[in-house]
Amino acid sequence: GPRIALLTRDLRIHDNPLFAGPDPVVPLFVLDPRLGGLSANRQRFLHQSLADLRGTLRARGADLVVRHGDPVAEAIRLAGRTGASTIAVAGDVTAYAQRRERRLRAETVRHRIQLEITPGVTVLPPGAVRPGGGASSYRVFTPYFKAWANAGWRGLTATPANLAMPAGIAPGDLPATPAGESPDAVPGGETEGRRRLCAWLGQISRYDDDHDDMAADNTSRLSAYLRFGCLSALEVALAARADDSPGAQAYLRQLAWRDFYYQVTAAFPRLSTQPLRPAADRDWRYDDDALRHWQDGLTGVPIVDAGMRQLRAEGWMHNRARLITAAFLTKHLGIDWRPGLQWFFRWLVDGDVPNNSGNWQWTAGTGNDTRPYRRFNPVRQAQRFDAQGVYVRRYVPELKGVDGPAVHQPWRLPDAVRRGLDYPGPLESHRDEAVWLRA
Ligand code: FAD
Repeated sequence: GPRIALLTRDLRIHDNPLFAGPDPVVPLFVLDPRLGGLSANRQRFLHQSLADLRGTLRARGADLVVRHGDPVAEAIRLAGRTGASTIAVAGDVTAYAQRRERRLRAETVRHRIQLEITPGVTVLPPGAVRPGGGASSYRVFTPYFKAWANAGWRGLTATPANLAMPAGIAPGDLPATPAGESPDAVPGGETEGRRRLCAWLGQISRYDDDHDDMAADNTSRLSAYLRFGCLSALEVALAARADDSPGAQAYLRQLAWRDFYYQVTAAFPRLSTQPLRPAADRDWRYDDDALRHWQDGLTGVPIVDAGMRQLRAEGWMHNRARLITAAFLTKHLGIDWRPGLQWFFRWLVDGDVPNNSGNWQWTAGTGNDTRPYRRFNPVRQAQRFDAQGVYVRRYVPELKGVDGPAVHQPWRLPDAVRRGLDYPGPLESHRDEAVWLRA
């Protein structure tokens, strides 16, 4: 009988192990109302990706079956209607995904259907490499990266040329694409993702030079396509591995961070609420007013405000800006990382539990950083990674008239100039350790 491919965050036909094997495949996507918490930005990207995938499948003689409800119940029901002997789903790591897999396991046993858990969300499945001493996951990145880079990766799954769908199944309507919140967010879909990957591979060799240059803005911007599986992480990693330029190698290392946080999450699914190192999770302040200034990009520290405004405009933020803004919230203002993480999660199109929570905990010092007490001096960061202030002026129009690096310290401008700017003075630090403000 056919096999039900229960798509989740693998919205592609290239290198998708769900489509492997000789049996006819019935691709199913279930919109789960329990995921109603998906932000407007991510919902829009998801719906565009579904529409794109449906188009691709139709062109190959198949279709995407779309249902609303509980993915487990819908997959079992469709298996019953089509006489499918197997349901396949990609292994995934969040608490939600692990619960879904457990329920699928129980229900397929009850209905005598085979369950196949396929790889494909990460380059290397969590648990494929393990540290010594019986631990289930790596806590430190560098040894993980060594093991990851030297592990045997699976081969790419062939792209199906033709997919026959069993007759008589209503495909179901795609929901209308909702408006996103961020006007400049990237459009969803495998077609768009592949176009961008192809362009990216042409400039990847420069990545080691300028991935931290905020004004140059020369990172791949593929994160949302990886988040929804419009691109296969393995395919991207293999392309980078085949290129021995320092840029491609630096890029490969960044991709390994993604796998790293996925294997942390597999072992520790409560990552978005519980600290990895409880002893470091203390003394947070709860200051709604300061939190709101940070969210709105009105802290009075230009590099922080530029990042926070890019987040809202584009549903994306440069990695360097994510580090600076997250460190500013947790280490400068002393505010709990959890509201910060939630704010990012609301806006980021690439927002996902492992990467968002893992990086927030890293920055707050409760996570996998081997130097958890490090501080980021935002001004020094700005001078280094936005040397001429181009990034700041791009996102903070109130400061457009301030030339060069002076834009990073408006509090040092002559009084008359400063008073003419419609821009706030810097928020006070909770511990008065902001020596950089007076420097
Ligand atoms: P590139 O620089 O081109 O990197 C290539 C790919 O490597 C990325 O697409 C991403 O998949 C992976 N990658 C790069 N850096 C990291 C990293 N530090 N951790 C994990 N994977 C990485 N990334 C997300 O995908 N989702 C999130 O929700 C997320 N939240 C973050 C929150 C904070 C506080 C910080 C500091 C970082 C966060 N990141 C997150 C990681 C990183 O900022 C983004 O992956 C990156 O900026 C995406 O842009 P890009 O595709 O151009 O990245």
